[in-house]
Amino acid sequence: MNKKGDKGETMKREETDVLIVGLGPVGAALGVYLGRMGVKAIAIERDHEVYPMPRAAHLDHETMRLLHLAGGAEAVAQASQPLSAYEFRNAAGELLTGFAARGALAPTGWPWTSMFHQPTLEHALRARLAALPSVSVRLGHALKSYRVEGEGVIAEVETPEGMKEISARFLVGCDGGNSTVRRGAGIAFDDMGFDEPWLVIDAVLAGGIARISTVGLQYCDPARPVTSMPMAPGRHRFEFMLLPHEKPEEVVSDAAIAGMIAPYHDPAQFEIERRAVYRFHALIAKAWRKGPVVLAGDAAHQMPPFLGQGLCSGTRDAANLAWKIEAVLRGRAGDALLDSYQAEREPHVRMITDMAVSLGRIVCTQDAGAAQARDAGMLAVPEGERVRGIMILEGLKAGVLPGGGMVAPDAQFRGARLDDAAGYAPILITREESDASRTFAASGGFAVVLSALDSGAEGFTALMNGAPALLVRPDRYVFGAGEAAALLAAWEAYLAGGGVAANIAAA
Ligand SMILES: Cc1cc2nc3c(=O)[nH]c(=O)nc-3n(C[C@H](O)[C@H](O)[C@H](O)COP(=O)(O)OP(=O)(O)OC[C@H]3O[C@@H](n4cnc5c(N)ncnc54)[C@H](O)[C@@H]3O)c2cc1C
Repeated sequence: MNKKGDKGETMKREETDVLIVGLGPVGAALGVYLGRMGVKAIAIERDHEVYPMPRAAHLDHETMRLLHLAGGAEAVAQASQPLSAYEFRNAAGELLTGFAARGALAPTGWPWTSMFHQPTLEHALRARLAALPSVSVRLGHALKSYRVEGEGVIAEVETPEGMKEISARFLVGCDGGNSTVRRGAGIAFDDMGFDEPWLVIDAVLAGGIARISTVGLQYCDPARPVTSMPMAPGRHRFEFMLLPHEKPEEVVSDAAIAGMIAPYHDPAQFEIERRAVYRFHALIAKAWRKGPVVLAGDAAHQMPPFLGQGLCSGTRDAANLAWKIEAVLRGRAGDALLDSYQAEREPHVRMITDMAVSLGRIVCTQDAGAAQARDAGMLAVPEGERVRGIMILEGLKAGVLPGGGMVAPDAQFRGARLDDAAGYAPILITREESDASRTFAASGGFAVVLSALDSGAEGFTALMNGAPALLVRPDRYVFGAGEAAALLAAWEAYLAGGGVAANIAAA
């Protein structure tokens, strides 16, 4: 379709169901989920290459599982390592607080922590996306503006061939912290009051060594707070807080960096690969959706990196959103289903951001007196009680959820992961096969009986708590346990909009 622009020139217009703006990890994961369900989508990205600056270094087990469903986890797993502990130490080296490793694998079947290299993930996601016929990727395409028209959106996009319009039923802004989509919708951030400047360094370890430590460290030294983290094997991350008088251009030189590394390690051990000064923020968009416009990832929220959860949270957004958009596009659900997106995701993000800010305040103390008081308070706790196991995040509290809300475990099925067999789809686990499970399987769900699992059935039976069936959502949160036909009827009713509003209001 063509239309005359203001100056009389003809502007090409293309139509799609979903326009994804931004092909960072969140946009790419969303594209894969939509593509796996055959949803017609266009993903535009203004740059031609994956973002070159240092960013995420840690993924939790839930995120690895969701990224596996998006085709990104294998490449990460081949080039990542777990943390044995994450410690916060004072200037004297005393342990203030910390998290100790749990067993090797979480119930999702993935390591509790994976220290990785973000570009590896982004290349893998883009490769998977390229293989999905219903999603078209356009690099070098930048969203300039958009307008809501009727039930959808018309976007103006700058392309290498000139300006172009794309009309879509949904516009999803995965366009990062400075989101054009968010600004276009007039959505403000709720600022949780954290704004600290840090220099972030990614280094390759000299001499081909894989790691200098398996422990992630926060040196809570008021003279200069410092983060030191293993990343993918052969790589290391340093972060240095800027002092009040320092300017970004003063701290990025090789000499300045070597001077900051020297109190901890021999700078010759590190070949600096990437460096950037960031302001660490804690911001949450006041609305995550306005009609056909939806925000995900950093466009919707940003948190300081002290828990390594920004990208993890964005991945959860993508996994939460894709099946809801598909249900609306296919007419199985009304728009009201999308109201559950922010209702489910925002409390989760807020809880994690609160924790990241609390840890950030411990680390970022630059006042010597305040640091002394902090140390005295934290060291008064017996040493054995200062260390917790690596965090297990809470589940969902309200939304498309008659019960459940916890993250489902995975199991082994026919020699592989059950997740592999099921894909990005709802899973019905039953004690017996039934008409209900056969109908469910015929309509795009994945049905399995407990006895068919090679191992891992006990994780599901515990959640079933004596009930004959368990329904798990495509994003791997448990929908509920009960009798199979009743569960499936409740699932359809929730998709159709029943229960969601009341459930959210009651929470
Ligand atoms: C120092 C640091 C450490 C971090 N550590 C961790 C960690 O350990 N674990 C973790 O989970 N998270 C961490 N994070 C956060 C994580 O990196 C981000 O949350 C994640 O990259 C956000 O992904 P995204 O896809 O939402 O946005 P981005 O990765 O920012 O992608 C947005 C994309 O949109 C494109 N774009 C923007 N505007 C337009 C437009 N108008 N048109 C077209 N395209 C556009 C951009 O070019 C970009 O490619 C860290 C971040 C930093 C800075």
